[in-house]
Amino acid sequence: MTKQTSKPIEKEIKEKPRCGLCGKTRNLTKTECCGQWICDDQHKYVLFTYARNSCSRNHDRFTLCGHHFSEGHSGDWKTCEKCRNNFETEIYVYYGTNEYNFEKLENPPKFKPTRCAKCKKIISLSEDGYSMSAGGYFCMDCSAIKW
Ligand SMILES: [Zn+2]
Ligand SMILES: [Zn+2]
Ligand SMILES: [Zn+2]
Ligand SMILES: [Zn+2]
Repeated sequence: MTKQTSKPIEKEIKEKPRCGLCGKTRNLTKTECCGQWICDDQHKYVLFTYARNSCSRNHDRFTLCGHHFSEGHSGDWKTCEKCRNNFETEIYVYYGTNEYNFEKLENPPKFKPTRCAKCKKIISLSEDGYSMSAGGYFCMDCSAIKW
């Protein structure tokens, strides 16, 4: 040990912590999964509204980081096989690259767009409504039709 610290450490934190997702500086907390500053706003979420107005909820629910943590996987989510296998590739890529992430997947795998099994319209599994059955995915229009 030859290093000597003579100067007192007076590193003043000038920069206020900000939510890594929306940039707000009030009511912050740290994510359990990755220790990043985020809005402490879970309470804003109204049950069953499916609103996506809560930064911390969005990160917990719609990212691989949050999933990886809540499922108790080990290692880094970006290289986690379990996460990779738990989702359709399209969902996996969405969860790994959406705006609720602090860090995004660097090389997201390619996937073919999902198409409605009936009308062949492209369905976004992350944003559109759809239903699933043995025959595949169905867009909302086709789901509504009685077979
Ligand atoms: Zn926020
Ligand atoms: Zn996280
Ligand atoms: Zn995982
Ligand atoms: Zn359809």
